[in-house]
Amino acid sequence: MSPETNPNIAIPTRAPSQVSADDTIMPFEVAALDLRGRVVRLGPVVDEILQKHSYPGPVSKLLGEAIVLTAMLGSALKITGRLILQTQADGPVSMLVVDFTAPDKVRACARFDAAKVDAAIAAGKADGGALLGKGHLAMTIDQGPDMNRYQGLVALDGSGLEAAAHEYFLRSEQIPTRVRLAVGEQFIAGEGARQHWRAGGILLQFLPRSPERARVADLHPGDAPEGTQTHTVEEDEAWVEGRALVETVEDIELLDPDLSSERLVYRLFHERGVRVFDNADIKAECSCSREAVESMLKSFSQDDRDHMVEDGKISVTCEFCSANYQFAPSEVGANTN
Ligand SMILES: [Zn+2]
Repeated sequence: MSPETNPNIAIPTRAPSQVSADDTIMPFEVAALDLRGRVVRLGPVVDEILQKHSYPGPVSKLLGEAIVLTAMLGSALKITGRLILQTQADGPVSMLVVDFTAPDKVRACARFDAAKVDAAIAAGKADGGALLGKGHLAMTIDQGPDMNRYQGLVALDGSGLEAAAHEYFLRSEQIPTRVRLAVGEQFIAGEGARQHWRAGGILLQFLPRSPERARVADLHPGDAPEGTQTHTVEEDEAWVEGRALVETVEDIELLDPDLSSERLVYRLFHERGVRVFDNADIKAECSCSREAVESMLKSFSQDDRDHMVEDGKISVTCEFCSANYQFAPSEVGANTN
């Protein structure tokens, strides 16, 4: 029997590493329960993105969750190209965009109504679900102009990104999935002492060989007429066990810089045996460039370009990274009036 078919043979075992690594994604497998997952730990990456925007705290926290979720999914796709998470909803935060470019770059921004966000904070209703409100979340895979774009859509119903992620996996991929996301601030003392953003997450999926074991109970009965029998499914014991373990993971365990990803999964699954794979790195990097902005401006109508001229120049600021690009009107074929 090869190690592939019997994970108990010929795979070296060791104690979990005590060394924690920020800005990494660690895949793992619990073969005894047919579970696979990933742990995401973000330090400088999420801090750099969120500090630059200086959005209100609860908006930063929500965008941080979206960054963890997108990095978690993007790093698992065997694609070249991009995975884009975008929300559109009627709450104080009208839009979140996280853009993951394979294999390791992430950028993100939010649009929100500052007065409504302030009011939500004052009313103590500034959790992720309340800030988003009702609308939808789209996951788009963009592999370049010659490929079809794949889009998965799920409704946002006021219950936040974790719930939306569960709905997404159930509807789009039919894989039983549990996700935990956490974002917080850590005070680092010393010179220039300030709060630093940290974020973390864990994803667990049930991937049994026989598909009938992967059935899960419907999340809610939906619009079924009154009196309709709700569809009940006995969930597989392995999945019930794995799901219950992941639901015990606390925010602090996902954020603590002294708790390594290996120790976290060991803590959860040591009784069953857990195998970890090599970390993938994540970095905060925007894909904007002067050339790209220039060709975008040139694609606008003459009238639009002419209207963009202010004080003798055209100025464009990247919404993701705040980089500012300035052009003389003649560089992009605009007329000065
Ligand atoms: Zn940029």
